[in-house]
Amino acid sequence: MERDIGKQRSDTSHGQHPLAIMLSCIDSRSSVEIIFDLGLGDVFTIRIAGNVARNKFLGSIGYGCKVAGAKLILVMGNTRCGAVTTAVDLDFSGRAVNEATGCDRLDLIVHDIQKSIGPSEKLAFANASVDRRRSQGNRRNRVSFRRQQRDIL
Ligand SMILES: [Zn+2]
Repeated sequence: MERDIGKQRSDTSHGQHPLAIMLSCIDSRSSVEIIFDLGLGDVFTIRIAGNVARNKFLGSIGYGCKVAGAKLILVMGNTRCGAVTTAVDLDFSGRAVNEATGCDRLDLIVHDIQKSIGPSEKLAFANASVDRRRSQGNRRNRVSFRRQQRDIL
């Protein structure tokens, strides 16, 4: 489908009425606009490593639904998520985030992902294959997010 960016820009210059809010990982392979062939004004997008939606994002989601009129919230996970894998691996190893990654500001994200994995699931993660662990972590984040959004919207 060909897009007329100039027309889209003109159509949205006086306001926006996005259909949906999309929450996804920062993974460079998971751009929702490209995957769903979206144009200007079609959706609000929120991206964060590992799809961890916490209070910081709920205001944007609330605005998108209640003020801008979005009717759908889509949380898109991705397989082989580096953030989830790193969080799980660090949880098992007990290593500090900045020691393992060299990044000083990843602690909050990694800890949010780790918190989404309950104690009873840790043994299952330890016994699962690497791909299965990545998928389980991402799915767990989505379920946790849905429970939060129900209270907000
Ligand atoms: Zn990811």
